[in-house]
Amino acid sequence: MAERNLVYSSKINKIRSFALILIGAGILLMYAGLLLKNTEWVMVLFFILGLLMILLSCVVYVWIGTLSLRAVPVVCPECGKPTKMLGRVDACMHCKQPLTMDKELEGKEFDEKYNSNRKKDKSNS
Ligand SMILES: [Zn+2]
Repeated sequence: MAERNLVYSSKINKIRSFALILIGAGILLMYAGLLLKNTEWVMVLFFILGLLMILLSCVVYVWIGTLSLRAVPVVCPECGKPTKMLGRVDACMHCKQPLTMDKELEGKEFDEKYNSNRKKDKSNS
């Protein structure tokens, strides 16, 4: 299978992996703190940092939950699986197929920046 030059992952997946990295980094920091327990302030510092990262990732997970509620569920035309879209353009969670909600962007090259163009012209009630 030929590898594509540009692989877009869906935003929800991106945020989810970000949260996962945060948890991993937090645990690593706390582990490093354990290794450095001879120097007490370093250990405390690493523990606090690790705890903060884990807390942050919890916040991110809650945020994903909120985003998922706002995301539009669609069935991917490429693989036929249900996926969720955030913003005007997003990629399918399963096959990374670029998807768009906007008819005028259909067929155009997928570009994340389409999302920011009209980010705030719709007033949320
Ligand atoms: Zn798909």
